[in-house]
Amino acid sequence: MIKIVEVGPRDGLQNEKTILTTEDKFEFISLLSQSGLKTIEITSFVKSDAIPQMSDAVALFTKVEAGLRNTKINLPCLVPNLKGYETARSLGVKEIALFSATSDAFTKKNVNATIDETFERMKDVAAQAIKDNVRIRGYISTAFGCPYQGKMDVKKLLEVTQKFFDLGVYEVSVGDTIGVATPSQVKSYIKELKKNFEVEKLAMHFHDTRGMALTNIYVSLEEGITTFDSSAGGLGGCPYAKGATGNVATEDVWYLLQSLGLETGIDIEKLALASKFILEKVKRNTESKFLKAYFNTGKV
Ligand code: MG
Repeated sequence: MIKIVEVGPRDGLQNEKTILTTEDKFEFISLLSQSGLKTIEITSFVKSDAIPQMSDAVALFTKVEAGLRNTKINLPCLVPNLKGYETARSLGVKEIALFSATSDAFTKKNVNATIDETFERMKDVAAQAIKDNVRIRGYISTAFGCPYQGKMDVKKLLEVTQKFFDLGVYEVSVGDTIGVATPSQVKSYIKELKKNFEVEKLAMHFHDTRGMALTNIYVSLEEGITTFDSSAGGLGGCPYAKGATGNVATEDVWYLLQSLGLETGIDIEKLALASKFILEKVKRNTESKFLKAYFNTGKV
C-alpha cells in the first residue's frame, strides 16, 4: 500500500491566485474525502495577511472537522509558529506540519529566518505538540535545488532531516520545491538518507515543473519510499517560476502506481470529480496528463 498525502487544499490552493470561499474549499475537501484519500492537508494557520488564501483557516478547519468527524481521515494543518499552533490546537487539530528548508537564502526570503532560526522557532511548537499528543510531520523545501542558491548538497539535506527527527516528527517530507530534481540525483540522495534514517519515515514531495516528477517517483519507489505528497489536478503553480507546473498531480501518481500493481485506495473517478470541481473554481485547466485524457475520452 502506498500512502498519498493530498496537499491540494493547502499547498495547491496557496499558490492559486483566485481566492475561494470557505464553502468551496469545504466542498473540495469533502469530495476528496469521498475518493478514498486517507490524508488530506487542509490549511495553514498563518497570520491572515500573510497568505490571503489561508486566512479562513479557523472557519475551514471547524467546518471540515464537523463534516468529516465520522471518517477516519487524517487532516493535518501547517503551523508556522506557536501562535498558529495554539489556534490549531484549540480547534482540535490532531496533526500538524512544520517546515524548513536546506537553503538559508530560501528560508530568509520566505520566513525571514535562517534554517537554524526556523528550528529555534519550531522547538517550542514541537515540544508542546508532543505534550498534547499531536502528531508532527516535517517538510523540507529546496532539498534538491533552490531558486537562489542553485543545486543543493545532500549533506545539508541529511543535516536538516536529522534536525526534524530530533524535534520528534514521525515523518519527513523531502521537497523538490522548484521541480529541478533529476532521477539520478533523487536516487543518490535517497540512498544517502537511507544510510541514516528509516525509509518508512521518509516521504517525497515532487513538483513537475520540468516534467520529471513521475520519473522521480518511480526511482523513489525503487529505493523503498512508500509515501508521496501530491495535489489533486496538479493544483498549485510554482511561486518561484511564473506559469510553471507545480505539485505533481495525484491522478498522475495514481496512474503510475496502479500500473505497477501498487494499491492506493483511491477511486480515480471520484478523485477526478473533486479536481473538476476545484479547477472550475480556480478557473484553470489541469496540469495532469491523466486528467486531460480522462476529461477528453471519459475513460480511465
Ligand atoms: Mg508543493
